[in-house]
Amino acid sequence: MTPPRDRRPPADEPLGSITRPVVDDSATAPECYACAATDLTRVRLALPDGRPAVFASCPACETTAWFVVDGDGTPLRPDGSPRA
Ligand SMILES: [Zn+2]
Repeated sequence: MTPPRDRRPPADEPLGSITRPVVDDSATAPECYACAATDLTRVRLALPDGRPAVFASCPACETTAWFVVDGDGTPLRPDGSPRA
């Protein structure tokens, strides 16, 4: 007798989707640091030094910034240095 197997992925989680990320990064990059818009495009990636980060692009003012995952929320440049 084998145990019941039900390892199907949830129906609402399409494979390979980039429009519905598996991880919600809105806590890492909550808003545009320039205009405070919250409807950002967020992409998880890594900085050159290897730190996991979220690239956030603001559709309202086209500002972009990187935010370290579990960091202090400082908007960073592509090389990982603070923007301010
Ligand atoms: Zn903005």
